[in-house]
Amino acid sequence: MNYSNNDQDNQDDQSKQQKQKKAGVTGFRIFFITLVIAAFAVVGSGLGIFIGIIKSAPDVSGLELKPSTNYTSFIYDANGMEIDRVEGGENRIYATLEEIPLYLQQAVIAIEDERFYEHNGIDMRGILRALVVNITNGDISEGASTLTQQLIKNNVLTSEQTFTRKIQEQYLAVEFEKIYTEAYGQKYAKDLILEYYLNTMALGHGTMGVQAASHRYYHKDVSELSLAESVVLAGITQRPTYYSPIINPENNWDKAKVILYKMVELGFITEEERQLALLENPFENIQEVNQIFVDESPHSYFVDAVIEDVLSDLQSKNGMTQIEAQNYLYGGGIQIYTTFDPEIQASVDRHMNDDSIFPSAENEIKLDYRVSITDAEGSVSHHSATGFVKNTSAIEGFKNEKLGEWGALAEGVTFVETLYEIPQPQAAFVIMDQTTGHVKALSGGRGDKVGDRTFNRATQAKRQPGSTFKILTAYAPALDTGMLSPGSVLIDQPITINLPSGNYTPQNWDRKYVGATTMRYGIYHSVNALAVQVLDMVGLDTAFEYLQRFGFTTLLPTDKVYSMALGGLTEGVTPLELNAAYAAIANNGTYIEPILYTKILDRDGAVLLDNIPNSYQVISASTAAALTDMMQDVVKIGTGASLKNWFSSQPVSGKTGTTNDSKDLFFAAYTPYYTATVWLGHDDPKSLNGASQREHLHLWGNIMKDVHSGLEYKNFEAQMPTYSMATICKVSGRLARNTCVSGTVTDYFSKENFPTQYCNSCGYQAPAAPTVTAPTTPTVTTPTTPAAPSTPEVFAPEIFTPSLPTILPSENTEAPVVEEEVVAPPILQDLPEVPSIPAAPTVTAPTTPVETPSTPVAPVETPSAPVEVAPTPAPEPTPAPAPTPEPTPAPEPTPAPTPEPATPTLPTLPTLPTLQQTPVDDASFIPQD
Ligand SMILES: [Zn+2]
Repeated sequence: MNYSNNDQDNQDDQSKQQKQKKAGVTGFRIFFITLVIAAFAVVGSGLGIFIGIIKSAPDVSGLELKPSTNYTSFIYDANGMEIDRVEGGENRIYATLEEIPLYLQQAVIAIEDERFYEHNGIDMRGILRALVVNITNGDISEGASTLTQQLIKNNVLTSEQTFTRKIQEQYLAVEFEKIYTEAYGQKYAKDLILEYYLNTMALGHGTMGVQAASHRYYHKDVSELSLAESVVLAGITQRPTYYSPIINPENNWDKAKVILYKMVELGFITEEERQLALLENPFENIQEVNQIFVDESPHSYFVDAVIEDVLSDLQSKNGMTQIEAQNYLYGGGIQIYTTFDPEIQASVDRHMNDDSIFPSAENEIKLDYRVSITDAEGSVSHHSATGFVKNTSAIEGFKNEKLGEWGALAEGVTFVETLYEIPQPQAAFVIMDQTTGHVKALSGGRGDKVGDRTFNRATQAKRQPGSTFKILTAYAPALDTGMLSPGSVLIDQPITINLPSGNYTPQNWDRKYVGATTMRYGIYHSVNALAVQVLDMVGLDTAFEYLQRFGFTTLLPTDKVYSMALGGLTEGVTPLELNAAYAAIANNGTYIEPILYTKILDRDGAVLLDNIPNSYQVISASTAAALTDMMQDVVKIGTGASLKNWFSSQPVSGKTGTTNDSKDLFFAAYTPYYTATVWLGHDDPKSLNGASQREHLHLWGNIMKDVHSGLEYKNFEAQMPTYSMATICKVSGRLARNTCVSGTVTDYFSKENFPTQYCNSCGYQAPAAPTVTAPTTPTVTTPTTPAAPSTPEVFAPEIFTPSLPTILPSENTEAPVVEEEVVAPPILQDLPEVPSIPAAPTVTAPTTPVETPSTPVAPVETPSAPVEVAPTPAPEPTPAPAPTPEPTPAPEPTPAPTPEPATPTLPTLPTLPTLQQTPVDDASFIPQD
């Protein structure tokens, strides 16, 4: 293929009546052919590569330029039942060229391809001009695409801007025109191409083609369009949002005027016709018509999200162009099998629309008001305003005020309006099966859904995740790298991090600092100082890598700062992605990309797209289990404790997230069955001070109660083979003795930081006590891991501050008074693979009844209840607590007198000092974690 076809082009020219300057055309052509070929050489490829590009172009014979439009596509739920359908009629209605006014055809030709009837598929003059511009600018952005090329780009080739694609597009355009001309003759070939083009052009607001656009904007058949209405449509296509006659009528009208002028120049219309068109008001009814589409919303948020995903996947995975994908979805008769669970969705919808859950003091209605006004002289102006009213009775007042301001209420003035009413605060909810990645239901907002493919807060809203990010940025990486364990002692004290930009001093949400405590407390009490401290230990780079592996796609480089531990992000995260991250914890550390559909079949039933979600391990199963164990305390005794008012039929593990300024309320949590995330806040972020800030827990609880009704009670699976229990002194972080009067903690420790030395603080006097020599236990420490230094060193230097005991919380006074100096060995539970210390009786806090849970990771806590011993050591799934005594790691010759002969093989419930306190989430304060 070469440009000899231009000769044919030359012959074709003669049929046209255009006032082209024929003289000089041949010389001009020789010049630009030379220039084009020279340009190819310049690009470094030369003619050989040019031919190669063309040879690699798709074979014309297998291609179809005519858009397929006539087939309805179906959407099915997870049970295979039809839940919705998408039809060409919504966005595309085919119109033949005879039905399309000549004005409209000419308007499109004038603005897109003025030599359409003269060229042979490519517009050499346009290419030359573009070439000059592109060489000048050093890119290939300048268009010069003919209608034929655009049709090919939209229906045949991918839309990427590459040199190769551009060459192929030009080649195919010429080939297609040749074939069509041979088959139909010159005139009809051009008409067909124009007809296809007019039926595929994107005209904004989801419309494809002039007929659908005519209905969308004017609510009438395309054949009834006036000249002015025609140029308004033609003007949209280059930048559908910028030139939207609904959103930006002024921009559109400016463009329309340019087109009208061009039409006169090309001889399509007379100057008189242009003047008359300028007097028309093509926008007169546009807002009124728009209201119809705003009010009609046939698709749910879930289906909207499916449509977005399908359109995006058809492009990214099947190599379609955007328009091709739209054609396929709206007219290709495809079958989409979704993950949708109609029963769960019904629960979600019911509670999302239960206004009684939402804080009445915060309630208001956001109004989005758009008006087109025609004054007494007939000239039109467009106005819009947003505002807030407390209730529906105030809407009229708002409108009248605006109409007055805009002069719409004067004599002889008429106007048309569109009004959106959006209740505030808003909410979003998403629920998925953590074992499959299947999103079962979602809600993108409360109140009436206005229009299709509108803003979906569950999948599109980027909001501040608050303290839900403590887990993902700080604690999960710290556990997963072996740096810390659930029982690791941390000092809750004001922290300042020196940064080049200044000092960063996060405040605790309750302004309280309890001194020496553990990671567990840091999580369930949502302690800001500890999260930032732990992030600092983990390192920003490591933390950021974990976040990315947790599947977040909205993070920016500017998020890699200390405030990310508290969920302070540049843009934020979507509820869908936050939910997927928590689902990874629920799914034993394996992330599964959330999906809304499983497969797409084409019209013939063949698989077009198998949607297998991306899946990989983010954190170890042990890390996940430790987090699951600790985050259960969030809803038992921590910042999410009020959840039990609404949902208690299954164990729940999760994390609250409230930004410091209380603009966003998040709760991301899971049961053994499902992971669900709720967000609550104002669309225009502002503090929810008029809320109890538990409304989101209420909403989550109500929905999950419904969702789990009838489901068997399940415990979380315990997979903590790399963790063992130990009782440590809170002051030293070492194994506790009876002398440790300031309090002890029993919790899980990983191999890497299992405490091996006994406390020698707390007034302990006897140096004769056997000093633990950790190295004798080969498995306890992994000194080669830099991230996990051997345990005592981890604790000692950072933990010991002389002032510590004095700032210990008062609950430590509950610690047992030691009567004798007998060294009481800590209880150490062996879990299968941990060859550590043989099981020994516990000495922890004798005043506190030791609860023996049936499973090690899901202890049933009753904060202030008396002794509760699980009657039977229930059969464990994996971490059978059968003692596999290893060769005495810790030198404890004689186990000290056993305080209580309870089943020594079962792990002891963490006896956290705070367990005996009143629940944190008390009505006396607002948990602004
Ligand atoms: Zn001690």
